[in-house]
Amino acid sequence: MKTGNIGVTTENIFPIIKKFLYSDHEIFLRELVSNAVDATQKLKTYALKGDFKGELGELFVNVALDKEAGTITISDRGIGMTAEEIDRYINQIAFSGANDFLEKYKNDANAIIGHFGLGFYSAFMVAKSVDIITRSYKEDAQAVKWSCDGSPSFTLEECDKADRGTDIVLHIDDDCKEFLEESRLSSLLTKYCRFLPISIAFGKKKEWKDGKQVETDELNIINDTNPLWTRTPSELTDEDYKKFYRDLYPMSDEPLFWIHLNVDYPFNLTGVLYFPKIKSNIDLQKNRIQLYCNQVYVTDSVEGIVPDFLTLLHGVIDSPDIPLNVSRSYLQSDSNVKKISSYITKKVADRLSSIFKDNRKEYEEKWNDLKLFINYGMLTEESFYDKAKQFALFTDTEGKHFTYEEYQTLIKDNQTDKEGNLIYLYATDRDEQYTYIEAAQEKGYNVLNFDGQLDTAMLNLFEQKMEKSRFSRVDADIIDNLIVKEDKQRVELPAEEREMLTTAFKSQMPEVKKTEFMVDAQALGATAAPILITQSEYMRRMKEMAAIQAGMSFYGEMPDMYTLILNTDHPLIQSVLTAEKEQTADSLKPIHEETTALQAREEALEASHKGMKDEEIPSAEKDELSELHTKIDAQRTKREAIYADFAKDNKVLHQLIDLALLGNGMLKGEALSKFIKRSVDLIK
Ligand code: ADP
Repeated sequence: MKTGNIGVTTENIFPIIKKFLYSDHEIFLRELVSNAVDATQKLKTYALKGDFKGELGELFVNVALDKEAGTITISDRGIGMTAEEIDRYINQIAFSGANDFLEKYKNDANAIIGHFGLGFYSAFMVAKSVDIITRSYKEDAQAVKWSCDGSPSFTLEECDKADRGTDIVLHIDDDCKEFLEESRLSSLLTKYCRFLPISIAFGKKKEWKDGKQVETDELNIINDTNPLWTRTPSELTDEDYKKFYRDLYPMSDEPLFWIHLNVDYPFNLTGVLYFPKIKSNIDLQKNRIQLYCNQVYVTDSVEGIVPDFLTLLHGVIDSPDIPLNVSRSYLQSDSNVKKISSYITKKVADRLSSIFKDNRKEYEEKWNDLKLFINYGMLTEESFYDKAKQFALFTDTEGKHFTYEEYQTLIKDNQTDKEGNLIYLYATDRDEQYTYIEAAQEKGYNVLNFDGQLDTAMLNLFEQKMEKSRFSRVDADIIDNLIVKEDKQRVELPAEEREMLTTAFKSQMPEVKKTEFMVDAQALGATAAPILITQSEYMRRMKEMAAIQAGMSFYGEMPDMYTLILNTDHPLIQSVLTAEKEQTADSLKPIHEETTALQAREEALEASHKGMKDEEIPSAEKDELSELHTKIDAQRTKREAIYADFAKDNKVLHQLIDLALLGNGMLKGEALSKFIKRSVDLIK
């Protein structure tokens, strides 16, 4: 019997391994089972090369649980180890056997070697002592038993072992008893070993008999050794892909599309990515892309490895070329990872592009579900935008789809303003903005439906990317102002009458919290609506951005600003004006006279000061002027009071305001109740 110290410089490395090295104790199982798989695959390789001439027999890895003894045993029938190899590979901790093997089988060993740092020693995260009972595949090899109780000393002795291969026996620590639960072990095997390339048996298959679960003679194989992503795409049917998806995410809807990844130069990567049909945010968080390394499960957090927007996809990526024991920030600067990330982006874009070209109808049908991924990608990855602009779609309010280019062609003739800007009109809520959409359509304009989560963000991007193009929501102004074709030749009201109208309406606007109304009068033609409410595109966008972006709270605090536009060509507005003129004529007369006199004096004074410097004007005259201003203002206030007094009792005016508010979903509470009562009165 041989005893010795494990070749590490640190006095006692195991407590370190246990506490700090691995945050997830459960990965011990992955490490040990994949070592067993490696040893088995190596033997197969030796056999293929003629270096091993014996019987391979049935090659599987067995995981056995003995609750009473408190052990987990992982057994393989792989290459095993001689005493000398144990010394080299296990005792000299930093010396990994992988290097030797690589040297010998340079050209085809790549597929076999998964490198997980300390590998075997992770056993000490859960075990108080570990035995290795092993016999090399070499002819007449002597079996040996290595034991170590977690201190740096070990024993190594000869023993009896009938078959070649290795048993790793873990004597589970008292504080890790959870791993002795069959269900716990079984779920770990499913998590980490589900797609390993060598069969893994965990006990026997069970069946129901006389109301009880009883063991059968059949091995309980827990893995699929030939998972879909390792197979040739041409041999696979749609149903195969769908079935694999169901296996991975049992509760999800059928995926929209999938992409089979397969490269071997300049890096090695295989996998299948699915575009999921999203039902809720929960699905997105729960179903994640799984990362494998030679069919060994590594993680389901792929941030930093695939571009952000693709983390929304589902499926599997398998690559031995992703460094696994490094920090995330290091990952992002790794050149392989960068290449992998841009390869995946390109593949996704190519696949979407070909589906779009080959089967546009199906693509359009799925566009609603696809849109989120594609828009998110365009917003976050410049390179993806450039590709996706060929197959990303616009949808108009009628539900028709267009590529960006097609849409541009569609609106070019009719929606270019006099400065040569192409104006894209959009609606964010087809019901709420119905009247505005209708007004635009009557002009022969097309309106886009931008009710998606990312549409507002997208239009900022479009305005940067598309030359001489502007996006405007249909209710941002009256339609003729949104797309200005030529300078207006309309007959506008005289200033005094505009003042009468706007002041009267403004005086009766109800108080709406955090909302401000301006009133404007414009000649919009006799067939247009008498009154409408618009909201400035600029302010609205600023506020929308403030809601999602830090440092813009100034805009967030501002009230919502709307403009009430009175159509002075409309008979109803004209009737209000006529009534106002009649009913206020008498009370306005003295005010007019007074104002005219004041203004005449003001003008005369100002004329006499023409060409004089400020210090040359006599101070008495300056005083008089400022007194005149105050008086003129006072007259205006009086006038406004008269207009308001008229407006207070004018039913048509109130009805018009309320209809405008109602049309924008802003008529609420007391104002709504008054409106209903007044309407009833009007139809009586
Ligand atoms: P790695 O697997 O990364 O090389 P490990 O610490 O897991 O590191 O294993 C060290 C070495 O011990 C392996 O490279 C291999 O040569 C040997 N080894 C471990 N487990 C087995 C096994 N089940 N059968 C044969 N050799 C093994």
